[in-house]
Order: sequence, then structure tokens, then C-alpha cells
Amino acid sequence: MNIHEYQAKALLREYGVAVPEGRVAFSAQEAADAARALPGPVWVVKSQIHAGGRGAGRFSNDPDGKGGVRVVKSVDDVRENAQKMLASVLVTKQTGPAGKEVKRLYIEEGCDIARELYLGMLVDRATSRITIMASTEGGMEIEEVAHRTPEKILKVAIDPATGLQPFHTRQIAFGLGLSGKQVGAASKFITALYRAFVDLDASIVEVNPLVVTGSGDVIALDAKLNFDDNALYRHPDIEKLRDEEEEDPAEIEAAKHGLNYVKLDGNIGCMVNGAGLAMATMDIIKLYGGEPANFLDVGGGATQERVATAFKLILRDPKVRGILVNIFGGIMRCDVIAQGVVAAAREVDLRVPLVVRLAGTNVDAGREILRTSGLTIIPAENLADAADKIVSAVAQGVAK
Ligand code: GDP
Ligand code: MN
Repeated sequence: MNIHEYQAKALLREYGVAVPEGRVAFSAQEAADAARALPGPVWVVKSQIHAGGRGAGRFSNDPDGKGGVRVVKSVDDVRENAQKMLASVLVTKQTGPAGKEVKRLYIEEGCDIARELYLGMLVDRATSRITIMASTEGGMEIEEVAHRTPEKILKVAIDPATGLQPFHTRQIAFGLGLSGKQVGAASKFITALYRAFVDLDASIVEVNPLVVTGSGDVIALDAKLNFDDNALYRHPDIEKLRDEEEEDPAEIEAAKHGLNYVKLDGNIGCMVNGAGLAMATMDIIKLYGGEPANFLDVGGGATQERVATAFKLILRDPKVRGILVNIFGGIMRCDVIAQGVVAAAREVDLRVPLVVRLAGTNVDAGREILRTSGLTIIPAENLADAADKIVSAVAQGVAK
């Protein structure tokens, strides 16, 4: 789960991570009031969306060509910029071309930036450890840095048995070229951030830029926190920070029905039981030259109702030109699944080609149900046959 920058900063502040003073605002008036409550004389007006690259982003309707993070010098300017930014659509490298409507702003006190650094923490599956990443190349996209100048990223893996030690934080501070009182400030910052990371069951925390100020303080100018969904039950307060307007409505709907759905960019909808089989299905679609429109695991107990919901979710995506159902009847019987597929296909008035591959218990009975359903369901013998058939059916449909 993702939260907004202002929420992340409020959480981190509780752990003693240094962040600038700021207030959230939902209207231009609130933005001006927030600015008045902060010392000034410089304020930063920051768009709150669940995507990075805001500073370099542009508003799709905005003629002034300014980005989603603006440094201004008066309360009037805060109000004026807030007015322009709210309800406008911000397009950044991470939002995709459609952009995201800005509904909240964060008004922060300005800060005297001497250096912009990068600091991130994540759970590294390869080492099964929390890995701290630091770089002198702050303010830039870390993926870019990793690609062009990987030697500029310092990685430190933390042994979970002993946790973060002072030598770790010094190694990072010196690696970032800090000296004098900055070393102590950075060590304190990293220690507090690590504690927050572990305590909050975060999966990623990214501070980009981490700033060294003119007076040698080390503070988070930006903060991105991601949480492990499987640990959210331990953090009801974090769960409350969820902003559903920032999430994909189809993914929210799917979660309500116990379906595991992730939207992708292709045009072949996939309905599969089991995450591993779903991945294999996506792989084989690609192998046959197609592009999956989604990952969808309907789970072990694929009832008719669940299958119908899954169909509806898939069809909500206007890009979908065909559906591949790939179900292995293990505990579930294929005839029951076939009945579910037929009923669901009728219910949603399916108008795109549907290829169904069934295997497992009662497979012959299942295929018979599909064959005599009166629906134009294309049966498939195996995974390769299924992929081949859906890719060509979609290609023919697109060519028409
Ligand atoms: P992002 O573009 O979505 O990652 O948003 P950031 O919060 O990182 O802001 C983008 C850039 O705006 C930063 O890299 C800074 O250079 C600049 N910025 C943010 N806050 C301040 C501030 O308080 N003062 C100044 N001068 N610049 C800031
Ligand atoms: Mn940033």
C-alpha cells in the first residue's frame, strides 16, 4: 500500500526523522492559511499524488509550463499557484500520459539546499535483508542512476539478527561525502528511518532528495513510503491513510471479492486459478506474440459468482480484445468451473473471443458443458494451444 508524501512525513517525524514543517491543503484558501501558519519567507507548494517525478512533471491544462512542485515567495503566490494546481491533471514520468488529478497539496516551509542526496531502504529478496541504498546523485531518478552510473550507488545490507549498527550509518555518511556535524546528523537520520521502516512493516522507503542544508542539517525533502500489504492487519492506523482515489478502481473491486488482480497494458484478459499458473499463462501469451491485459488469480475456490466478477473486472478495461480462461481443476471440478464460465459469460454479454483451457478432474464433462452451451467458446487442448488460439483470435479481431 502507498500513501501520500505528507502522510509519510508525518509518520517519519514521529520516529524522529528530520522533515520540514508543512501542512496539507485541499483548497486554495487552506493553502494560504497553511502558508501563513508557517514561518516563510519561502514556501513550497507540492502536489500530492501517488506518483513521483512531480517536480519535472507538467499540468496538462496549464499554460504557465510549471511543474507539480513550486517554490514561491509570498502567501498570495501560494494561493495563486494552489488555485491553478488543484483540480488540474499532473502528468509525470510515473503517471503515464493520462496523468493524475491533483486533489491535495502539501504546503511546506522552504529550505536552504546545499546538497541533494538519495537515501532508500527496501527488502532485498536476494539477500533476505533490508538493504540501504544511498547516492550522491539526489533529486534524480534512482533507476536512471543505477542504469548509467551504478558505481554511484552505495548498498549496505543489514543483518536482521543484529540490526542497524553505528558503523553502518558512518559507512553511508562517509560514502555520501559528509563531514563534521553532518555525519552525526546523517547517522541520526538513518537510524530513525531504519526504525520506522522495521516498525511500520514498510517494503520501501525512499527519500529523494535527502538534503544537506546550508547550516549542516540533514532533512527529508521528499518521502515515499510503501507498506507490505500482508502486514497491514498489524497497522490499522496506516490502513486508514489509504486514498482510494489514487488506486485503480478495478484493483479495489477485485480485493473486495478476494481476487488477485493487477492491471497491465496489453489486450488479452487472463483469468486463471493460482498465481503460478497465472504467471505461466502471461509468459506463454507473450511467447506467442500477444500482450496480457492483466494478471488475475481467481484463487482455489472459483465459484460462478467469482468467475462472473472476474469477467466483469477484465471487461472493464476498454483495451481488452479477447479473454483466455486457464483453469486447472484440482480441488475444484472442471464441470463446476465450466458451468461458472458459461453462466458468467451469459451474464456479462461477452462480445470478445473467449478461449478456455480446462484440465484436471472431470475435464471431459467440463468440455461438454462448454461445447453445448450455445456460446462461441473456443476450446483449447493445452497451454500452448490456448495461447496460440487467443493470440490469433485477437489479432484477427484487431485486423478487422
Ligand atoms: P518529486 O519530483 O515527485 O520527486 O518531488 P520532490 O519532493 O522530490 O521535489 C522535486 C524537487 O523540488 C526536489 O528535488 C527539489 O529540488 C525541489 N524542492 C522540493 N522542496 C524544496 C524546497 O523546500 N526548497 C527548494 N528550493 N526546492 C525544493
Ligand atoms: Mn523526489
